[in-house]
Amino acid sequence: MNIYGKTLEELEDYFVSINEKKFKAKQLYKWLYEKKINNYDEITDIKKEVINKLKEDFLFNKVSLVTVERDKDVCKYLFKLSDNEYIEAVLMMHDYGRSICVSSQVGCNMGCKFCESGRRKKVRNLEVYEIVTQLLLVEEDLKDKITHVVVMGIGEPFDNYDNVMNFIKIINSPYGLKIGSRHITVSTCGIVPKIYEFATFPYQVNLAISLHGATDEIRNKIMPINKVYKLEDVITAVKSYIKKTNRRVTFEYIMLDNVNDSELDAESLSKLLKGINCYVNIIPYNETENISFKRSEMFKIMKFYDILKKNNINVTIRREFGSKISAACGQLRSKKEEL
Ligand code: SAH
Repeated sequence: MNIYGKTLEELEDYFVSINEKKFKAKQLYKWLYEKKINNYDEITDIKKEVINKLKEDFLFNKVSLVTVERDKDVCKYLFKLSDNEYIEAVLMMHDYGRSICVSSQVGCNMGCKFCESGRRKKVRNLEVYEIVTQLLLVEEDLKDKITHVVVMGIGEPFDNYDNVMNFIKIINSPYGLKIGSRHITVSTCGIVPKIYEFATFPYQVNLAISLHGATDEIRNKIMPINKVYKLEDVITAVKSYIKKTNRRVTFEYIMLDNVNDSELDAESLSKLLKGINCYVNIIPYNETENISFKRSEMFKIMKFYDILKKNNINVTIRREFGSKISAACGQLRSKKEEL
């Protein structure tokens, strides 16, 4: 067990179980996440015997930073795990703050045809501490606070549901990294039962759905998960989520040349989403050398955007970060491992 994988509640239970006061958990959290200590011996307000017990019961290690690729407003971090696997995180500087995109698994089983990460099958889920410490190391490098978090790196977060939820509890804690829940977004390719479960998660976190197609025919071609959870089931789950949480959902839509970018596709998408409290985030595809999909030309993207607007769908075109430094999902790790 690793100390960075424990929620405040779990640590409170732990302290109670060793006959210590519950509030010690908050003290410890402050050392870990505010003062950002590097070993237990820096703690001054918990007595030695308790510190020794902590040392026995919890590891203190983080993921290790291997390389950083820097560009003007984006940095890409490659991390190594204790079993020599690699994962990555991307830091983006926005005018509204600094957001980080973290990985949730080593590899991914969803097999989306356009995605670099999916070229490598899931090896394992990330442990909670491996997700949390991506943030700690990036904050250390940045020498500033991260303000926004998206779980959109390597992996399918809803295929590692419990660990991702605990990660959210830790970074959102007022004694932890204090990332506001409305500044946290989890993105899924559409694991329907988990969308229902997520609707009951008692934190105001945002949900993004990787849609990328407005019909089963298109989604089946590019996203194998659609054969398990059909588009209609995804949309029904999203509607139920919105009803329960009253929160607006984001639909991500990568524009792939001649696959999903026609005017007809824009009309179908408008029809599909009509009346749903959502917005569409159009994403120019980040081409990658191992995959033959091409990005749609800008005039097609604009046309697509105009049609959605005309149909009163909230829509934005995602600003591009990091195509120069191979920041698209899984690219840096692929380069490293030469997959
Ligand atoms: N598995 C989750 C989260 C990780 S992928 C999900 O599917 O949502 C994060 C987002 O990046 C998804 O919308 C994914 O479809 C998209 N993506 C993957 N490869 C991309 C690429 N080369 N260019 C642009 N977006 C990409």
